[in-house]
Amino acid sequence: LTAPGQLFEMEEVEVGGTTIRAWKHAPKTFRDLLEISRFHGENVFLIYEDERISYEEHFRRAATLARRLVDDYGVRKGDRVALAMRNYPEWVVSFSAILAAGAVAVPLNAWWTGQELAYGLTDSGARLLIADAERAERLKDEEAAQVPMIVARGPGANLDEVMGEVRADVTLPPVELGPDDPATIFYTSGTTGRPKGALGTHRNLGQAPMTVAYAMMRATALAGKDPAEAASVRRVTLLAVPLFHVTGCFAVLITTIFSGGGLALMYKWDPERALQTIEREKVTVLTGVPTNAWQLLSHPAFGRYDISSLTSISYGGAPAPPRLLERITELLPDRTPSNGYGMTETTALAIYNAGKDYAARPDSIGLPLAVTDVRICDPLGDELPTGEVGELCMRGPIVISGYWNRPEATAETFVNGWLHTGDLARVDEEGFVYIVDRAKDMVIRGGENVYCAEVEAALFEHPGVDDAAVIGIPHDELGEEVGAVVRRAPGSDVSAAELQDFLRGRVAAFKVPGTFWFLDEELPRNPGGKILKTVLRRRVLAS
Ligand code: AMP
Repeated sequence: LTAPGQLFEMEEVEVGGTTIRAWKHAPKTFRDLLEISRFHGENVFLIYEDERISYEEHFRRAATLARRLVDDYGVRKGDRVALAMRNYPEWVVSFSAILAAGAVAVPLNAWWTGQELAYGLTDSGARLLIADAERAERLKDEEAAQVPMIVARGPGANLDEVMGEVRADVTLPPVELGPDDPATIFYTSGTTGRPKGALGTHRNLGQAPMTVAYAMMRATALAGKDPAEAASVRRVTLLAVPLFHVTGCFAVLITTIFSGGGLALMYKWDPERALQTIEREKVTVLTGVPTNAWQLLSHPAFGRYDISSLTSISYGGAPAPPRLLERITELLPDRTPSNGYGMTETTALAIYNAGKDYAARPDSIGLPLAVTDVRICDPLGDELPTGEVGELCMRGPIVISGYWNRPEATAETFVNGWLHTGDLARVDEEGFVYIVDRAKDMVIRGGENVYCAEVEAALFEHPGVDDAAVIGIPHDELGEEVGAVVRRAPGSDVSAAELQDFLRGRVAAFKVPGTFWFLDEELPRNPGGKILKTVLRRRVLAS
């Protein structure tokens, strides 16, 4: 490439019978990206407490593990290998190794219970699991989960043993990979049933960091800053979200590898540790969900740390209250705040609002990012005129093609190459997108999605529950909190505490409702039998 503008050249590609625009110079597969990352050599890549792993060291470890996976565990192209870990450096090395071996990485939610983890393993048909000791322990009694396991950290860890010597001359195992080959399965839920695996390809993975790079270039321009100067500062990103979510994996991890910057990992989110880490590591970028930014700015220790290195604060994955932008502008002027919209099915970031655009329209998620096409559709899938509210649909090279082993769900959600998001939105005359409501029955608690149907199904297993509805209730810090409205079975006097205990054994803690309302009357339903949640929410919040 000879001119900066060339980086963002686009080309037309055919994906699943549809012609779309894609970034021409994006890595074709993860192996390309890994090879390119070696140019960053001894530059620090991963930062975790006192540990430092350079790009070269990361390459060697990933290549060594990839060889062991192929030679010792018989992992072949297309096999699924699951990951269940907190945000440790081993997560990153294992993820890289799995992809470099040609296998499909299946990152499982580390907050899941043993039962939920076992479900992920069985559903994906994983032939191997790389886990930390805590997740391994949770899976001990799950019969379905008895797949070979490598323990990466904690008591009984054997990853180092499995890897053996990490040699300087190690190369990637020979595997032919192309952009259409599957790369990742991330679990996401739907309005019904159990979590389904969003199947992403190497093309999705390679196009994602280019999309983020483009977004950042636009943010720099919109903030009135000099792009050359901005590019001359080495980026150090603080990872505020889990790596098992697409934001953590693609918008942060893969984007970091692509840019050659540093990535400061936190075992889990903690606002004061985040402030310490920003000061100590001279972090330049904070990426997470709105709750992360909100908690950082509202923390009592906020003024005690030097966070002058921070130039950009970006968040997405959940509605960002306009008050958050006001607070950033007040407490951290001259930084570039941005709000990104994306989904598991869009390999993270797809629509983006930053700088003066964001200041002028704090309630918008911004403009689609170049390679992403957006349209607003009526319930039949026909495009609506500008300004009207309908379902937000998207198409482009970061949009996945379907769900793992779920032809029906795939056919319902992906129609003629267009992803139906389940979000209700409108687009203004200038192309800015506004999320108006969520058509899908889901609560976003601090960035973490809770699918009402799943929690309701678990509630119905309790004999004292006659009818139940799970709803989102407004919460300052988390955006939304999970609430439940229950009609008890005749003769039952089951309490909120008992139901919470009951749920804790069945679903991850973040899905357990914090507030319960008990109603004596029937829950309001439409003629089709669907609970009218808006009516119900209004009723209980007013009570
Ligand atoms: P997930 O697949 O877990 O990433 O969740 C995607 C969903 O989160 C979207 O369909 C939206 O409902 C919501 N979402 C993501 N980003 C935003 C945003 N910037 N503003 C509002 N809602 C968002």
